[in-house]
Amino acid sequence: MRDPRYDILFEPVQIGPVLTRNRFYQVPHCNGMGHVHPSAMARMRGIKAEGGWGVVCTEECEISPVSEFSPYIEARLWDERDIPALARMCEAVHEHGSLAGVELAFNGYSAPNRYSREIPWAPSNTPVRGYDPVQARAMSRADIQALRAMHRAAALRARTAGFDIIYVYAGHDLGLPFHFLTPRNNRRTDEYGGVLENRVRLLRELIEDTRDAVGDRCAVAVRLAVDEQTAGGLSREGEGAEIFSMLADLPDLWDVNVADWSNDSVTSRFAPEGYQEAFLLGLKALTCKPVVGVGRFTSPDTMVSLVRRGVLDLIGAARPSIADPFLPKKIEEGRAEEIRECIGCNVCVSGDHTSTPLRCTQNPTMGEEWRRGWHPESVNRVRHPGRALVVGAGPAGLECARILGGRGMEVALVDSLRTLGGRVALESRLPGLASWSRVIDYRLDALSRLGSVEIYRESSLQAQDVLDFAAEHVFIATGSHWRRDGVGRALRCTLPGLECLPVLTPDDLMAGVLPPSPVLLFDDDHYYMGSVLAEQLVARGVEVIFVTPAADVATWTHNTLEQHRIQRRLLELNVTIIASHTLVRCMPEGVLAGCVYTGRTRFIAAASLLVVTSREPEQALYHALNSAPEQLHVAGINTVTLIGDCVAPGTIAAAVYSGHRIAREFDAPADSLHVRREIPHIEV
Ligand code: ADP
Ligand code: SF4
Repeated sequence: MRDPRYDILFEPVQIGPVLTRNRFYQVPHCNGMGHVHPSAMARMRGIKAEGGWGVVCTEECEISPVSEFSPYIEARLWDERDIPALARMCEAVHEHGSLAGVELAFNGYSAPNRYSREIPWAPSNTPVRGYDPVQARAMSRADIQALRAMHRAAALRARTAGFDIIYVYAGHDLGLPFHFLTPRNNRRTDEYGGVLENRVRLLRELIEDTRDAVGDRCAVAVRLAVDEQTAGGLSREGEGAEIFSMLADLPDLWDVNVADWSNDSVTSRFAPEGYQEAFLLGLKALTCKPVVGVGRFTSPDTMVSLVRRGVLDLIGAARPSIADPFLPKKIEEGRAEEIRECIGCNVCVSGDHTSTPLRCTQNPTMGEEWRRGWHPESVNRVRHPGRALVVGAGPAGLECARILGGRGMEVALVDSLRTLGGRVALESRLPGLASWSRVIDYRLDALSRLGSVEIYRESSLQAQDVLDFAAEHVFIATGSHWRRDGVGRALRCTLPGLECLPVLTPDDLMAGVLPPSPVLLFDDDHYYMGSVLAEQLVARGVEVIFVTPAADVATWTHNTLEQHRIQRRLLELNVTIIASHTLVRCMPEGVLAGCVYTGRTRFIAAASLLVVTSREPEQALYHALNSAPEQLHVAGINTVTLIGDCVAPGTIAAAVYSGHRIAREFDAPADSLHVRREIPHIEV
């Protein structure tokens, strides 16, 4: 059973009028489901409660069309008609004895109101955040009274929905109360502007209003960003702590973090577990109310240390609860080594940025709990137990074997290499990506507990080997390799002149090849690979010229909150960045590049070319098997299925999902694979 060292994590904590059963607190996090997919959101939150999180919160919850967040999909409590959707979440959370929290949010100039077309409100006249051609208008005193009334009414609706904890949101430089706190956003000269006491006034009033409206039954929480990690921003050593002290005992709970969101949810490439501790230290001594904070905590020892050292009362988590909704239960049941640790990749965040249900690299069931009926900790038994062969132990093969084994199949997992993990084993050795090896660690540990799974290393299988093995179901997870001819998004046919220069691919670099310097790195992949290779090359003394057809480097990483950090790092490493250019041809001493707008060409001198463009699936084994269907039949092989990157190369998250889905569904009757969706209600 539970290690007594962790008992402290299971102590109840009083939060105003409510009591949470333990110290595990799922802080608000976006999920791309919100008001559009409310049953999916409710089920996902319910599973967190089932997994032992004592408190489970919503994401940001709009309180009025005067501040709505479209196209981002968040929760919504504009009026009474929004109550049933959120009541569904509260029921799902209460069913498992947990508390439900709601983060009421009014985002002022951070929300351009693309849907409602309302003019956004702000402390002072200002353009909205981002590049929408919209300005927010300075709020009048009447507007401030109206906002207080809206917030109060939303708090009452939240209480009716069944929430136990109701937030006033002043976090991330997103919430309007935060805008009032910061002089750069608040140039008012009335009693809401100027000295700190005045700038804090709105936040104080909203806390008092909320307590007055619902404080008899609900706890009032404040989410405050105490540091913006930017010159001229709010700082922990300055006004951040002062604001906290001024309001010290007014709320029932402090949820403290840093701003903006990209600083709050830093990826593991740029910050380790516990990266916010320096900003949290000492705050608890300023209040007698409980404090929750985050830092991508996945280690129970770190959690205990935070509580024992008086840093936090409650262990906050968004991403660790996404990667493993059952993290608390695993600690409680003495199974801490089974925790599926977050790798800090922010693929989950990309769901919010693309307005689609969240997904997770480590937890392929995330976002699928309701629509596909997947549970993170349980799978159905197969209808007809038999033998399965999984060829390839990358993320897809490992996950496929894990689920097949869990479903009662007798599984052989075979890889040609000694080191398992496929691309993850290689990529996690690149700069900043070490935590990604958790994708392998979790799965190898899980496989070691499954008596029905055998692993064979250093066994490269040919078609005849597969036939000889004679499993009833064969899953081919042989991955992919990077193309060497430049073909990708920008170039649709081979780059001319490739024979003029040494040409390398990411596979070559990951195998240890060092290209002659300077290398022209052509990144038409736009995710992490180009930039981590650039970092690695610089560390090995190679000069890098980074050419991309996009307007900035690693442009997809805007979706993982990393782009600005990546661009900054490359610039700091003196990597030459040539944006908005594609390649035209290789020449003996360099490459001719062309502007993507004008077509004007320029010669870039380089000693070698590294092409990070696209990948080719490894389907040779699959095609060899399928070329002789009668042999499959004779060998007793019923199905041969491609999974992961050898279907179509993509993210690690996609490979894990592919392996998971096929292992869960391969024997299901076709009509049972119903994907639920919610149809908008038609107003009559
Ligand atoms: P995915 O992301 O789809 O899981 P990876 O490229 O990460 O794909 O992993 C593919 C794995 O398959 C690699 O570890 C590779 O060594 C292994 N592999 C490829 N071909 C064979 C084969 N014919 N026999 C055994 N293992 C193979
Ligand atoms: Fe963690 Fe990545 Fe999963 Fe997000 S997607 S919870 S960062 S593993």
